[in-house]
Amino acid sequence: MKTLTWNVSWVNPYESGWSIIEKIKYANLISSRDLHREFDLKNLVSVIGYDILEQSKQNLTRLTGMFSNTDYNHYLIRSDLTYCEKCLCMGHHSLFHQFSLLHQCPFHLCDLRNNCSKCGQQITFNYVNYKILEGFRCNCSEFINDMNIKSVSDWQLHLPIKDELLLKWLEIDIPLARNMFKNDFFYFPHLIKEAGSMQLILNYYGFKS
Ligand SMILES: [Zn+2]
Ligand SMILES: [Zn+2]
Repeated sequence: MKTLTWNVSWVNPYESGWSIIEKIKYANLISSRDLHREFDLKNLVSVIGYDILEQSKQNLTRLTGMFSNTDYNHYLIRSDLTYCEKCLCMGHHSLFHQFSLLHQCPFHLCDLRNNCSKCGQQITFNYVNYKILEGFRCNCSEFINDMNIKSVSDWQLHLPIKDELLLKWLEIDIPLARNMFKNDFFYFPHLIKEAGSMQLILNYYGFKS
């Protein structure tokens, strides 16, 4: 089996699977198509020593597992790649950026963006596309956002979460909340458009627990 330039310490907490794949592509100057050709997911997991799918599932549960209705994830996780320009220029994208109840980067408190900074097109958020492009590039072949990576050793970031509400959200007792919310209905098509929805749900959780 082929090897890859990779260090598991490059993965940051709550980093998205998309981001990890783009890092692998970037560090190895390899396209998704070639990566897929050389490694199936099982091989890739053993080569990089990190279970992308399992970790993504755990992160997703931490963010949305309090709602037993998994249909909500359709609204709670944005389908277009949504990113923070300050994070992405360092080669980092977080599942937090895809989480529809957050409207700012929880690390930088700046607005999120959901289109290519060069051509303006939106990019589907998925873990693997089969294009011939290398890491962090849009279909237009340019970098989605200007990159400022001096060395891949910079990839181990220690970004503290500055968003107080998100910190509270991550403290929610998932099994408890899941049980409390099981008969409740949340109209997420509306909630995700309102900036105060995370606070609203946290208040409701506090009220019920
Ligand atoms: Zn950021
Ligand atoms: Zn583009």
